[in-house]
Amino acid sequence: MKLILLGAPGAGKGTVAKQLMKLDGSAQISTGDILRGAVQAGSDLGKQAEAFMKAGDLVPDDLIMGIMEQRLQEPDCANGFLLDGFPRTIPQAEALKDLLKRINVDLDFAVEIDVSRDVILDRLTTRRTCVGCGAIYNVKSMPTKVEGVCDKCGDKVVQRDDETEEAISNRLDVYNEKTAPLVGFYSNENMLLTVSATSSEAVVEAIQDRLAS
Ligand code: AMP
Repeated sequence: MKLILLGAPGAGKGTVAKQLMKLDGSAQISTGDILRGAVQAGSDLGKQAEAFMKAGDLVPDDLIMGIMEQRLQEPDCANGFLLDGFPRTIPQAEALKDLLKRINVDLDFAVEIDVSRDVILDRLTTRRTCVGCGAIYNVKSMPTKVEGVCDKCGDKVVQRDDETEEAISNRLDVYNEKTAPLVGFYSNENMLLTVSATSSEAVVEAIQDRLAS
């Protein structure tokens, strides 16, 4: 499958992508994970992206398109891909449309995962992430067995720099201003599926139904 997962930070895009990936081996492509890896590695890309990310602002479109142009042409994408956190602006969506045309790839559709602001705020402030393998935990609903230590790889589990209340509030404002208009963009292209998510399983089921129809 070739899908775009749209939704505010904390809507569950990553969780849904991981479940979909297991169904048919499509590659999960998270621009946030790619950028966090670059920051950790101290690469040029990481140095350029770091300050924007820490503040909860978007990284400039040309940096993101540089990453995606390469990533979408890697061999694992031939089986399908799940775009998690990209595109995030209208210019990125337009550039993606041109890129896919150029490399002769058809998208299935874009999925809007619609979750209320209250649920998102609660989820993000309690979310913790493993610095080693990226596993996601939640201090309320899914704590690690040993505090601060990843159950899967034993590395440190921390609160992301951009998951302080201030950065989260900024990320949600940025989402509403810059990313929410993509819902209209994909609706105009007749490529939008909106799911008001009660659970990631419900989102996955709605996606499977649409793919089968
Ligand atoms: P995420 O993990 O998807 O919430 O992304 C974390 C941060 O990475 C965002 O707050 C942005 O600073 C940056 N980022 C990720 N994807 C993009 C994108 N497509 N365009 C611009 N910035 C991005």
